[in-house]
Amino acid sequence: MSYVNRKPRFPTFGLRLALWYATLFVVGSMVIVFLTYWLTAASLAQRDRQIISSKLGDYASAYQRGGLGALADTVRAEQRTAPERLFVRVVDRGAEALVLSQPEGWDPAALETASLRLRDGTLVQVGKSTDARRDLLARFRAALGIVTLTIVLVALTGGFVVTRSAVLPIRRLTRAVGRIIRTGRTDERVPLSGEGSDDAIDELTTLFNAMLDRIEGLVTAMRGSLDNVSHDLRTPLTRLRGTAEMALASPPDVDRYREALADCVEESDRVLVMLNTLMDISEAESGAMQLHREPLRLSDVVARAVDLYRDVAESKGVVLTAHPPADVVVTADQTRLEQVAANLIDNAVKYTPASGRVDVDVLRQSDRAFLRVRDTGVGIRPDELPRIWDRLFRGDASRAERGLGLGLSLVRAVVEAHGGTVDVTSELGKGSTFTVALPIAPM
Ligand code: ADP
Repeated sequence: MSYVNRKPRFPTFGLRLALWYATLFVVGSMVIVFLTYWLTAASLAQRDRQIISSKLGDYASAYQRGGLGALADTVRAEQRTAPERLFVRVVDRGAEALVLSQPEGWDPAALETASLRLRDGTLVQVGKSTDARRDLLARFRAALGIVTLTIVLVALTGGFVVTRSAVLPIRRLTRAVGRIIRTGRTDERVPLSGEGSDDAIDELTTLFNAMLDRIEGLVTAMRGSLDNVSHDLRTPLTRLRGTAEMALASPPDVDRYREALADCVEESDRVLVMLNTLMDISEAESGAMQLHREPLRLSDVVARAVDLYRDVAESKGVVLTAHPPADVVVTADQTRLEQVAANLIDNAVKYTPASGRVDVDVLRQSDRAFLRVRDTGVGIRPDELPRIWDRLFRGDASRAERGLGLGLSLVRAVVEAHGGTVDVTSELGKGSTFTVALPIAPM
């Protein structure tokens, strides 16, 4: 069975799920990390620019107040207190540049500058080294690198753990199903996750187990009826063989042979009826039975079936009465429905002793038609009641009567194939009532 042992395709569902999870997590986190970095860098740059422009304002006003001397004093005074030296240059109209301050080891390329031209044409220029900022950002990048690495690790581990816990119940289900298919043991059940949660997998497991219950029931029923059929076939076939054997062993005599052959035909007929009925039941149950549905007056069907048993009932001393009903039309297969009515009436007459009664009614109730067969016969034992519909089941009390134990199985199968139901109520020693309900033909 290749579908059981099939190796999972690569990458497996679980791995794909884990990768998807990790990728989403990492991408989301990366966006956040980059945004953080970018915002930090931007705000640091802005802070530098603010410092520069505020210093530029200070210096420009000092210059205007007291010329170059005042500016130089301001710059010097500030350099004593400020932690970081700024670059300050003054270029007057004569394009003579004067550098007033310059950070140690300055690199003109790594300088953020701003300048202001005063009213007299002098240009004051202030620059701030970006070294400190770059250094800070470099550290920040290193920190973010570690954070990123952690995120990736967490994502992979998380993805793995989450996926594992999501896939584990599916694996368990798969393994159990595989085991059941391999061993063919329908009494095995898939264990629930045990966490008492009613999640989707547990639901599936429960359904799967319910399906197994049903399959097991069907298989058991099939085995049972196969056993019954084999058992019930053995008797007529053994008799058939015995009759033929005895005829062969006896001295040649045409009359004796004729009699033996007639017996053989009778036994074969019995077997054939049994097999045909069994096949009819199977067909009806599986929905394969060909039904020639047509609108039928239920009372006509009943009348014909009752006619069939009038003589039998009379000779037995049973009063068989069909109560003329209201006009009820059903859409059904005439032959099959007659068979249903005949089987029920046959049983009622068969299991009702002399001076009993059998009453057949046709009733109607909203959208359903009822065919009811009541008898005042021997009744059915409560413990046998649920089993009378089983194939080949025969009640203890009915051993003396002819029959195959297939009549009611066929009745039920045919009625259900017509979309109807059949019920029974019975009281031991008082009688039984069988009721067939069929949907009414739409007008
Ligand atoms: P059978 O060939 O034995 O009549 P059925 O399938 O028609 O087989 O019925 C199964 C069993 O149900 C019978 O053996 C009998 O025990 C019981 N049964 C059916 N109909 C009646 C009835 N009207 N009264 C009493 N018992 C009945």
